[in-house]
Amino acid sequence: MNEQALDQAVLVLNRNWQPVQTCSARRAIHLLSVGHARVVQEEGEEKYETHDFHSWLSYSQRAPSPVMIRSVRVSIRVPKILVLALYDKIPAKEITFSRRNVFWRDQFTCQYCLKSFSESELNLDHVIPRKKGGKTTWDNIVTSCVKCNSRKGSQLPHEVNMHPKNKPVAPRWKPDYSIRMQAFDVAWEDFLSPSRDRFGLAG
Ligand SMILES: [Zn+2]
Repeated sequence: MNEQALDQAVLVLNRNWQPVQTCSARRAIHLLSVGHARVVQEEGEEKYETHDFHSWLSYSQRAPSPVMIRSVRVSIRVPKILVLALYDKIPAKEITFSRRNVFWRDQFTCQYCLKSFSESELNLDHVIPRKKGGKTTWDNIVTSCVKCNSRKGSQLPHEVNMHPKNKPVAPRWKPDYSIRMQAFDVAWEDFLSPSRDRFGLAG
């Protein structure tokens, strides 16, 4: 067995095709082999077709990939996306609103000058200032560097022509940031980006 391939991260979707977590390829193959999940094909003409263990095995023979898990008897593609078949892992509770989680959401990037900073150099900015009735909520708070934060002061975005790059919203599910940052796979994009609604995949 190829140990490294077995540690590769796989995106897990619930039955509504919403991303709920990531797991190792080792666990993915197990879930697949016991019928608890199907693999979502991430490329080719039958993109988004789902496969049970046997159909994934035969697809692996038809279209081998550079990364295969090989054992004495079988050779199988490492899945990239899995959809749960029998049960739903309930998406984690609403993500807690906190300074650090806002930074994570905005990827430690000032939403005004678009530069990345370390945590100690970042502030939270009220898009609609508190003095003008702005609340301290996911949809009114963005990551800002100290400089942009003081430049904006307590003015409205249009008054200083400073608009946050991304419209602030509450994260819809709790990603495992540590895994996601290190192992993000382009094949996951349609399921993770906010624009996924456009693909008609929203549950
Ligand atoms: Zn800035």
